[in-house]
Amino acid sequence: QEQLSDRINRLETSATLAMAAKARELKAEGKNIIGLSLGEPDFNTPDFIKDAAIQAINDNYNSYTPVDGYVDLKEAVIHKFKRDNRLTYDKSQIVVSTGAKQSLANVAMVCINPGDEVILPCPYWVSYKDIVKIAEGVPVEVPTTIDTDFKMTPQQLEAAITPKTKMLWYSSPCNPSGMLYSKEELRALADVLKKHPQIIVVSDEIYEHINFVGDHVSMAEFDDMYDRTVTVNGVSKAFAMTGWRIGYIGAPSYIARACTKIQGQFTSGANCIAQRATIAALEAPVSKISFMIDTFKERRKLILDLLSDVPGFKCNAPQGAFYVFPDVSELFGKSYNGTTINNATDLSMYLLEEAEVATVTGAAFGDPNCLRLSYAASEADIKQAIKQIKAALS
Ligand code: PLP
Repeated sequence: QEQLSDRINRLETSATLAMAAKARELKAEGKNIIGLSLGEPDFNTPDFIKDAAIQAINDNYNSYTPVDGYVDLKEAVIHKFKRDNRLTYDKSQIVVSTGAKQSLANVAMVCINPGDEVILPCPYWVSYKDIVKIAEGVPVEVPTTIDTDFKMTPQQLEAAITPKTKMLWYSSPCNPSGMLYSKEELRALADVLKKHPQIIVVSDEIYEHINFVGDHVSMAEFDDMYDRTVTVNGVSKAFAMTGWRIGYIGAPSYIARACTKIQGQFTSGANCIAQRATIAALEAPVSKISFMIDTFKERRKLILDLLSDVPGFKCNAPQGAFYVFPDVSELFGKSYNGTTINNATDLSMYLLEEAEVATVTGAAFGDPNCLRLSYAASEADIKQAIKQIKAALS
C-alpha cells in the first residue's frame, strides 16, 4: 500500500462498487437480489447501430483512428449539436473519447491545477468528485434538497465562489436526481458566472434524450457562456451503448486541443468500430430511440405510484434520466435487531439484506438523506422490488 501514489490513496472506494460487491456476495449465497442500482438501460443496442459496427469490421476498420475521432464522426457530432442543441461547433472543437467518463477526465486533467476549486452542486454524479481529486482539484459541494428539486440556486452558487474557483460541473438531466435546469434557471446561474469570468463550466448532457418534460437546454446556448462551457455528451444512455464506450465534447478549441493532447498520451483515441457505430447512432432521427424513452416514462410513473405508498420515502417527480431519488431521512433513527439506521447508507444496506433489493446510497452522490433507485429495470422487477421494500420497512 505504501508503494502506491498519494494520488490513488486519496481516492475513496466507490460506494456504488461496494454495493455491487455486497449484492454479488448475497447472490452467491443464493439470495435473489433485485437490482435497482444500475445506471444503464436494460435494452439491447438497436440493430441499425449493431449493423453499422458489423459493416465496419467487414470493411476492415482496424487501424488507429485520429486521436480526437474520425473526421466523419466529428461531422456527425457537429450535426447532432446543431440539430438537437442549437450549438455551432467546428471540427477543432470536438473530441471523441472512450466514454463521457474519459471526456470528463480529460477536461479535469487539462483545466485543473492543484488546489483549484471545482463547484459540484449536490447531488452530483458519483465520479465527478474523484475525477476532480485525481486532477488535484478541490471539490466544493453545494448541498441542495428535495424542496428545491435538488437544484442549486444562483445565491448558493454565488456563495460558493472564491478566488480559487476554477470550474462548475453539473449534469442536466441529473444523475441521480433526474431533475433538469430550465432555461431561466440556467440563465440565472450564468448571470452569477458573468461576474467571475475565470470559471469554466462543464455541462454534462448525457441524459439529454431521456427527458419527459420536453425542453433540454445547454449552457453553451447562451452567447456569453459559449466560450467558457464544455458540453459533454455520449451514446451510452440514449442509445443503450454503455459498453461501446463513446463520449464526446464540444468545447472552446484551446480546451479541445488540450484534451486531444492528453488523450494522445493515454489512449490514442476511442475504439474504431464503436466510432463507426456511433456515426449511425447520431445520424439517425431521434424517433428511432423514442420507444426506449417512452418505456422509461411508463416505468417512472409506475415506480412513483408504488413509492407514494411506501412510508418514509419522500419523492419528487424526476423530469429525466431513469432514476428516482427519494429523501428517506424520516426513517433515520429506526432500529432493527439492535442496529440503528442512521443514514441512507445504513438504509441501503438494510434494504439489500432484508428486502433483497439493491439501491445506491445518496451519500455516493453527496446527499446522505436520499437513496437512488434506477428504473432501468423490468416492470415486474420494479413491482416486486417495491413490494419487498415496503414489507421490509413495515
Ligand atoms: N455522466 C453521467 C451523469 C453519467 O451518469 C454517466 C454514466 O453513468 C457518465 C457521465 C459516463 O458515461 P459513459 O458511459 O459515456 O462514460
